[in-house]
Amino acid sequence: MNKKLIKLFIFINVLVFAALLVDYRQPEILAENYLQPQSLTEADMPEKIVKTDEEWHKLLTPEQYRITREKGTETPFTGKYNNFKEKGVFQCVCCGNVLFSSDTKFDSGTGWPSFWAPFSNKSIEMADDSSLFMKRTEVLCSRCGAHLGHVFNDGPQPTGFRYCINSVALKFVKKKGGDTPVPKKTRRSHRSNPDRLRPDHDLL
Ligand SMILES: [Zn+2]
Repeated sequence: MNKKLIKLFIFINVLVFAALLVDYRQPEILAENYLQPQSLTEADMPEKIVKTDEEWHKLLTPEQYRITREKGTETPFTGKYNNFKEKGVFQCVCCGNVLFSSDTKFDSGTGWPSFWAPFSNKSIEMADDSSLFMKRTEVLCSRCGAHLGHVFNDGPQPTGFRYCINSVALKFVKKKGGDTPVPKKTRRSHRSNPDRLRPDHDLL
């Protein structure tokens, strides 16, 4: 009887140990799977531009500084790119990073230039914004951190997003013939990562 009890005790212990092994191994596998897609290399990211407030003041007009460095908003229907139909690309007014293409610009009727996708998924960064008693997603230049505007999920297809951007934060560069929005020779000459200039349709 005692031997049977001991055997039963050992059997239960083995079962518990096996169950514990399974429990401990599962999170490891999940963590590994979760972390892999997150690993970004330095080469994937555009080089950052960091300047002091004083330096930005010298480079920008007071209105450009207020919008881009102090997260301001231009008055709707007053921006120069709101009713703007020319073909080309829109760069960051602070650092020249290519942010949006005229190919994704649409008339949202909101009074601000609106796009349904950024130029590339490396052009911009996003951050939670809880100011003015609203929950919004702020859009920033990935290179210099300039405040550009906000993104909403009521945009047209194929993405369904509406990137609502201040004209003041943008600088338009006109398309000069051909299908490429910017002459590649000119653009590449002063940039270290030409891949950044190629439209990236991963988001679509
Ligand atoms: Zn920038």
